[in-house]
Amino acid sequence: MNQALDLRAAVDAAAASLEGKVVAWRRDFHQHPELSNRETRTAHQVAAHLKALGLQVQTGVAHTGVVAMLEGGRPGPVVALRADMDALPVAEEVDVPFASKARATFNGQDVGVMHACGHDCHVAILMGVAELLASMKSRLQGRIKFIFQPAEEGPPPGEEGGAALMIRQGVLDNPKPDVIFGLHVFAGVEAGSIAYRPGPAMASSDRIKVTVNGRQTHGALPWRGVDPIVISSQIVLGLQTIVSRQVDVSLEPAVVSIGAIKGGVRDNIIPDTVEMLGTVRTFNEEMRRDIHARIRNTVELIARSAGASAQVHFDNAYPVTVNDVPLTEQMVPTLQRVAGDARVFVGQKITGYEDFSYYQQKIPGFFYFVGITPPGTERSQCAPNHSPRFFVDESALVLGVRSLAHLALDYMASKSGAG
Ligand SMILES: [Zn+2]
Ligand SMILES: [Zn+2]
Repeated sequence: MNQALDLRAAVDAAAASLEGKVVAWRRDFHQHPELSNRETRTAHQVAAHLKALGLQVQTGVAHTGVVAMLEGGRPGPVVALRADMDALPVAEEVDVPFASKARATFNGQDVGVMHACGHDCHVAILMGVAELLASMKSRLQGRIKFIFQPAEEGPPPGEEGGAALMIRQGVLDNPKPDVIFGLHVFAGVEAGSIAYRPGPAMASSDRIKVTVNGRQTHGALPWRGVDPIVISSQIVLGLQTIVSRQVDVSLEPAVVSIGAIKGGVRDNIIPDTVEMLGTVRTFNEEMRRDIHARIRNTVELIARSAGASAQVHFDNAYPVTVNDVPLTEQMVPTLQRVAGDARVFVGQKITGYEDFSYYQQKIPGFFYFVGITPPGTERSQCAPNHSPRFFVDESALVLGVRSLAHLALDYMASKSGAG
């Protein structure tokens, strides 16, 4: 057996023997979920594990983030592997013995907390990968930077956090990784399968806040004021024509949604102002800027045509998750070998966002989806990520460990000329 085959077999054997531990870690994190920027227990467990493996560990990055370096025995590239750690304000409805009963305060409200996006799996998988690669460190042709990131779901209002803050605090410096890999467990894809997409894979996201300023009047005397409710109705419909009539959706899809309208207190008083909240999703940064400009025009000019004024404010911005095409093409054969050719496929674009996109703006990155839905489940019965009924078939976890470990090793071998 040649060296590469020998190493691959060793990885698979080590992953199989780690499966029980990874499942136990995942259940522990599942039972103790923590909201964004509050992942203190999780971070503590992660740091203790990485220190016990002999890695150099840095804690408190971007609030609760943990970053660790594993030095291989031979020179080679720096490969970053990333897991996110935060849970969501969702009350669990899944009937498992390790279901979450955790509660916390979010936005001033008492809420249930649940790993409804599966980040518990990501943490457990990356802890397993760290243990696996540490056990063969003398054979590694390069270095691995493990990134355990807080607040992927977005920091609480008024706070900073997530990938953007980790990058500002230097997670991609000293040493700078050559590439970054990350995965997401994904409902709707069967356990045992992997979905990926070269180029734009997940959407950009921007929150829009619109304020329409009219003039208060009696509901029986509308001509004495300027009605921001009717103007807001026109704005909502006007905004819907941006995607349907104004941008070339044959290039990339896009979404503009208004999710909240607030204005007025009773039937016969026309209020002064109306506030609206919405979200914009695109798969192309140029289209994103163009849609922003069109939103501004639509809002301001419709308001002006009715004698009102209106402002648009964009925030909570996340860029498009773009998988580096050459890197994706290079690494897909690894996934095919690990999962089996028939179980690796090109997935649809996802209109959700992922702050892994910030790393990909700085260095080439590849982000892929590991299926966690029990095989044979009807699509209509499958609760999506963020649902209180989000369910993970844990047989998928070992595939997560194997895929990340093999991606790292294959990439290092390709740069060391010893593949
Ligand atoms: Zn999520
Ligand atoms: Zn997520």
